[in-house]
Amino acid sequence: MTVSDKSYQTIVIGGGPAGLFAASRMSHGSTLLIEKKERFGLKLLISGSGQCNFTHRGQPAEFLKHYGNNHRFLKKALYEFTNADLIRYFQQEGLHTVEDKNGKIFPSSLKSSDVLDILLRKCRENEVTLLSGKPVTRVEYHEGCFFVSTDSSVFRSGNLVIATGGLSYPSTGSSGDGYRFAEMLGHHIVNPKPALTPVTVKDYRLADLSGISLSDMEVQLYQNGKKTATHRGDIVFTLSGLSGPGIIDFSRYIEAGDVLKLNFVNEHSAQFNERFIKEAVSSGKTTIQAWLRPFNIPRNLLRRLLQIAGVEPGMPMAAVNKQSRNALVACLCECAFEVEKTGGFKTAMATAGGVDLGEVSPQTMESKLVPGLYFAGEVLDVDGDTGGYNIQAAFSTAYLVAKSIQQKTENR
Ligand SMILES: Cc1cc2nc3c(=O)[nH]c(=O)nc-3n(C[C@H](O)[C@H](O)[C@H](O)COP(=O)(O)OP(=O)(O)OC[C@H]3O[C@@H](n4cnc5c(N)ncnc54)[C@H](O)[C@@H]3O)c2cc1C
Repeated sequence: MTVSDKSYQTIVIGGGPAGLFAASRMSHGSTLLIEKKERFGLKLLISGSGQCNFTHRGQPAEFLKHYGNNHRFLKKALYEFTNADLIRYFQQEGLHTVEDKNGKIFPSSLKSSDVLDILLRKCRENEVTLLSGKPVTRVEYHEGCFFVSTDSSVFRSGNLVIATGGLSYPSTGSSGDGYRFAEMLGHHIVNPKPALTPVTVKDYRLADLSGISLSDMEVQLYQNGKKTATHRGDIVFTLSGLSGPGIIDFSRYIEAGDVLKLNFVNEHSAQFNERFIKEAVSSGKTTIQAWLRPFNIPRNLLRRLLQIAGVEPGMPMAAVNKQSRNALVACLCECAFEVEKTGGFKTAMATAGGVDLGEVSPQTMESKLVPGLYFAGEVLDVDGDTGGYNIQAAFSTAYLVAKSIQQKTENR
């Protein structure tokens, strides 16, 4: 093991968007960036199916709503370096951008490699020492100095930025090492769990309807028999369960054994039941199928739901007894799906949990426990919805890190 003679002002661990952007904005020639994989930014390259949906349209206040319960932690970061700032940054670097109909923003080339190339170019212009194919194995802190070890060397610095990502898609290099490093330096880790994942449903009866999608559905989450959360979004039925943004964005809260209830008619069950009773009196000859037509439930799905409820589609409304009506209302307003499991880290697009936010300053991303220690990106206990929110958070947190280190240096 060689102890490097050169001491750096800052060492950044992790060459994803957070680490590269932070390193590219530090004082010229002062930074070492160490990446575990031979190539930088592997996860960035596969993001958005290789097209890199790097941010989303919307005002910062609206933006903030897309980061679950811990969104407040990101307020400073997302207001200081907004989606508009990120778009402007790329445009200044010659990368044009394009927005899709849902507000997702991509490079207009639809190539994530174009985003990565800019980050690497900016690092080189800033004379960042880039070391790849070298996993950091250990970090220590003694008397104001960080010691960062790889298998062959020990590097020293005054500041350390942990930007090692989460645990999802471990083949891209983010396999939770940063949590260990944070713990070595006294930080606590909120139990990491897969986020942005579809769910597998127990005793699933809609496999043959896979591919059917429904827009803007209400999904209710029940945990131990109690309703704990509600979410709205598009749903897709898969071969083994439920997917689509309405499920994927909600998955940070979902555990095996929970029950998800879908409302296909967008009406509360009591209200729907009352309406049924009234209309069974006034238009008793109308068939169930005809009455349900205005709800625009795809035909095959409606047939299956009626089958599950035990109600014949051609039955006149007046002929439906109380028991069948209750079954029908339950099936349409609160159709229950028991979660067998969520996707694991191999398929999740993000990680919920991570470095405990109570121990990190939201103003600077600096540790409240160890001066000079910073965190950026997905390693923190905050995760965004699909749609560009995670990459934006990686950039915005990295921006604060670089700004804080720069200011400290100038004030010395
Ligand atoms: C399939 C997929 C698609 C996605 N699509 C989108 C999308 O379109 N839009 C969006 O906003 N988000 C998307 N995400 C999420 C987004 O890519 C991540 O949130 C983002 O890359 C996090 O950036 P980061 O820099 O914090 O971490 P990462 O990108 O994970 O980078 C961390 C880096 O640290 C390195 N590292 C880890 N341990 C060590 C170590 N011991 N030593 C040295 N280096 C180490 C890793 O090799 C890695 O390169 C997607 C994720 C996946 C998996």
